[in-house]
This record gives sequence, C-alpha cells and structure tokens, in this order.
Amino acid sequence: MGAVGKLRGSDHLRYEDSLSPRDISILMLILGIEGTAWNLSAGIISETEIIAEAESTYVPGEGSGIHPREAAQHHAAEIKAVIKEVFEKASAKGITPADLDGIAFSQGPGMGPCLRTVATAARTLSIKLGIPLLGVNHCIAHIEVGKWLCDLKDPVTLYVSGANSQVLAYRAGRYRIFGETLDIGIGNALDKFARGVGLSHPGGPKIEVFASTSRRYIPLPYVVKGMDFSFSGLTTAAINATRKNPLEDVCYSLQETAFAMLTEVTERALAHCEKDEVLLVGGVGANRRLAEMVEDMCMARGAAFSVPPKNVLKDNGIMIAYTGHLLLSAGKTLQIEESKVIPDYRPDEVDIVWMK
Ligand code: AMP
Ligand code: MG
Repeated sequence: MGAVGKLRGSDHLRYEDSLSPRDISILMLILGIEGTAWNLSAGIISETEIIAEAESTYVPGEGSGIHPREAAQHHAAEIKAVIKEVFEKASAKGITPADLDGIAFSQGPGMGPCLRTVATAARTLSIKLGIPLLGVNHCIAHIEVGKWLCDLKDPVTLYVSGANSQVLAYRAGRYRIFGETLDIGIGNALDKFARGVGLSHPGGPKIEVFASTSRRYIPLPYVVKGMDFSFSGLTTAAINATRKNPLEDVCYSLQETAFAMLTEVTERALAHCEKDEVLLVGGVGANRRLAEMVEDMCMARGAAFSVPPKNVLKDNGIMIAYTGHLLLSAGKTLQIEESKVIPDYRPDEVDIVWMK
C-alpha cells in the first residue's frame, strides 16, 4: 500500500481499464457498501481510481414514499447479486476479493433496518476475507468523494439529499454543521409534494421538468431561521397552491423558494468561514436550477463552485469505499463489537483524522 499519483478532474470520472499485478499489490483497494435508504450500491476503488460499481434501487409502491422495512427487504434480497456484480467487474480488471485491503460500510445516518442489512453483509465479508472493517458516516462520504473528484481542499458543502439537508464546513478537526433542516430534507420535501400532486417517486426530477417551462412566481413560505431552514410548511403550501394554479407555476415557485433558502444559508456560511470553494452534493444536487443559483452566488463572492458527476451525487458505494480508504490510511478501523449501526449518526460527531 502506498500513495500513488494524483487524481482526476471534476467533470470526468476516470475508470481504470486494468491494473498491473504490481499496482494491485501496492495500491490500497477498498470495497464500500451503501444502503442507508433506497439505493443499495457497492463500489471498489483504489486510492487513485474508481475500479467498479454495481447497484440495485428499491422503488416504493405507487403513491407511497420509502418504507424502511420494504427497503431493507429489497437490500437483503439484492445484496448478494450486487456484491457478485461488483466483484465480476473488478475481476475483469485483474482484481480478486483477496486483493482487497478493507470493507467499508455506511454506519449511519439512515433507516435502521436498511443499515443493519448492509452492516451484516460488511461484517461477513470482513471476517471471511480477514481484512479490516471500516465504519463510514454517510454525510461525510458525500463530502469526501466530492472533494476527491472535484479536486477541492476545504470547501463549504451544501449537502442536499432525500433525508438530509445541511451546510457544512471543516473547522478544528471536524465538519461543523452551520445550518440544517429543522424538519424534512429537501429531497423528501420534493418527493412529498410530487406524491401530493399525483407524480411518482422520485419527485425531484419531475418537478425540475415542470418548473423549466414556467417563469411565473407564486409567493410561498420562505422559512430561514437563523442558519437553519424548514421545508414542511412550504411543501404543504405548494400542494395547496396547485388547486388554483397550473402545476408548472407551482413547481417553478417551489424550486425558486426552496433553493433560494439553501443558497442564502450557504452564502452566509461561506462569508463566515472565509473559505473560497463551495461543493454541492447529494441527489438534489443533480438539479440544474439549484446548481445555477449556488454558482451565481459563488461568482458574486469570487468563490469556486463544484458539483461532482451525477452517479456520485446520489447515494453510492464509491463514496463509502473512498472514505473507507481515508479511515484505513489513518488507522481508524472498526472492531466487530463496535460496528453497531447508528441511525442518527451526525457528521459533527466524527473526528476527521485525515485532515490534520
Ligand atoms: P439521495 O438521497 O442523495 O440519493 O437523493 C435522492 C433525492 O434526490 C430524491 O429525493 C430525489 O427526488 C432527489 N433528486 C434527484 N434528482 C433530482 C433533480 N434533478 N432535482 C431535484 N431533486 C432531485
Ligand atoms: Mg445521501
């Protein structure tokens, strides 16, 4: 194991075609498993490149949101096939399970039944292969993979996913949460609105399409309290607004309001921390209007704006593997007895030993 090379640029993920036997023996190779909510995903990385990935996504029934037990049953039924597929893809590049140096998994935050399914698989693989287990905080994995793929040093991060919405920045050994949602995540808010108006899950991309055809703003509740934001009342007000207004106009207004709230808090964190990079991560980061608003704010402040490629924006095994590699490099492995899942694991509980 050794430090090899420098990493790729922000807008193209480089996948290693094949590694030489020498590379395989000196590079740190990690398998990461993600399954905190609806996406079950496994990724293998070396410390310099993405090697392989495989995933299987749980789709909630018509008109319903993610059901934790059903999602966990999906993960339990699919995990063998997902791991098999990622190993097959890696073997095409000359890598076998015996070459791995560690097994990383999402320890939290997330849905308890889903987390437990993934943790069981990770413990089993760690014991079977005789290699260390690495417990990863899911939110931190989003930040770290974004920093890696976008070549950033010390950004303010806007993390916007289904369950989570936070503005974070590194200070004195930890990622501090400068602002966060007081109720539901922005992704869940969009999905809830979509369900309320008869659109299927996931709602975010459909709302984006409707919104793109309107420029008519309907006032909706803009709720920023201190550095925190709230989406629950906004979602209900938007659903009610569809009774008297075209869906396109409500989608547009919902996006403009919610994204302005997120951009305002990100801007204030950036000003407070005096940093000069902003990173957008999480599934909602795929929204072009949100990226445009945050980028405009960054340009006005002279900060660099980055958003990683789409397949690592949403929940994915690559980010877990990459953060596992940072943990292993710092010697932070997990004993089986300490590997209990943490459904309410907050990113500011984790010592960021690799940044010191
Ligand atoms: P994650 O929890 O990070 O996997 O992200 C999933 C969330 O991202 C879901 O709530 C989706 O509705 C949302 N999402 C995905 N694509 C978009 C988009 N283009 N615009 C807004 N939300 C999106
Ligand atoms: Mg996530």
